[in-house]
Amino acid sequence: MHFKIMRYSSRVVFVGLAALLILHCKADSQPQPLTPPPTATYPSPPDTQIRNIILFIGDGMGISHITAGRLKSLGANGRLHIDRMPVTGLLINHAADNLITDSAAGATALASGFKTNNAMISLLPDNTRAVTILEALREKGFAAGLVATSSITHATPACFAAHVPARKMEPEIAAQLVESGVEVMLGGGRAFFIPEEDSASKRSDDLNLIERARQNGYRVVQNREELQKISEGRVLGLFNDDEMRNEPHEPTLAEMAAKAIELLRGNANGFFLMVEGSQIDWGAHDNLLDYVVREMLAFDEAVKVGLEFAREDRRTLVLVTADHETGGLAINDGSLDGKELEAGWTSGHHTGQPVPIFGYGPHSLRFTGVHDNTRVPIILAELFGVEPFPRIRRE
Ligand SMILES: [Zn+2]
Repeated sequence: MHFKIMRYSSRVVFVGLAALLILHCKADSQPQPLTPPPTATYPSPPDTQIRNIILFIGDGMGISHITAGRLKSLGANGRLHIDRMPVTGLLINHAADNLITDSAAGATALASGFKTNNAMISLLPDNTRAVTILEALREKGFAAGLVATSSITHATPACFAAHVPARKMEPEIAAQLVESGVEVMLGGGRAFFIPEEDSASKRSDDLNLIERARQNGYRVVQNREELQKISEGRVLGLFNDDEMRNEPHEPTLAEMAAKAIELLRGNANGFFLMVEGSQIDWGAHDNLLDYVVREMLAFDEAVKVGLEFAREDRRTLVLVTADHETGGLAINDGSLDGKELEAGWTSGHHTGQPVPIFGYGPHSLRFTGVHDNTRVPIILAELFGVEPFPRIRRE
């Protein structure tokens, strides 16, 4: 019996060695790939002085939302563009008044470096105005852009360039945005810019903010074709009455990000661009995995555009993060190719999990580790020599 096993195992060893030898010869004769495999981590450029910052925010995007996007599109061994960013960290994200943040308090922290109460847009709990990193950089001569697939007056984009006590004040946010000077604003929300006499309006006054935007030097566009024709200057793109709906006339998130970069990159002092995948959150509120995956992949395509620009530019910092996790999503079971996926949800609301932050570009290592979400604009302010920051403005 013992002898038999010995004979059997020596035969296995011999066959194994022969196979290894053949494999080795075969591998040697293969040419080395010229480009890294599509799962490799992108090598970051060296830490020179940063010129531009592109901040991607996946609203409601937790680790499992990214995992679902990866599995459904590429399987367990694939990697999204987000996955290939070289620096990772975690952000703690509670609000000033609540363990579970909403997008308003979350984006206020990411924009201004201050904690505030849920629903407040870049105001402190006592209604003091918080200066945002976008505003501080514009004062230093940077150009700025905001891109979202919600209305452009929705909580996340609003927190970078508007200040109101309640996120639902979208008509007032629209009025502030057209006076903000932000060079590129692309998203939905036309209804908040048109006077109440228009049946599609969500205003209760006769202000025509599209006219006002034109007076302030903006070209106003409402579909992909009109957007593609713009090659310089200020642009306000309002592609649907409220949120964007993946309709044929609309540009994709990646197309909006690409156009924003094209319009902002010529500014001599650099630019700040925020791009939001707004509806990852909405799919998660409804516990709809397919909706989450679709929005996740559209977001990843936009991140790819940012990374491609940064790889060529070498002086652009790209950050990808979220304001909070939505749905308490977990991957409970499924197949390695991702065709089958069993999702579990603990909630139809936001949760208190930390969210990931990914970095690529000069000084991206500053974002590794576990940070409070307020640290993001504070670190950016340090990198760009903005001081003091955070700061308030009394008016
Ligand atoms: Zn939400």
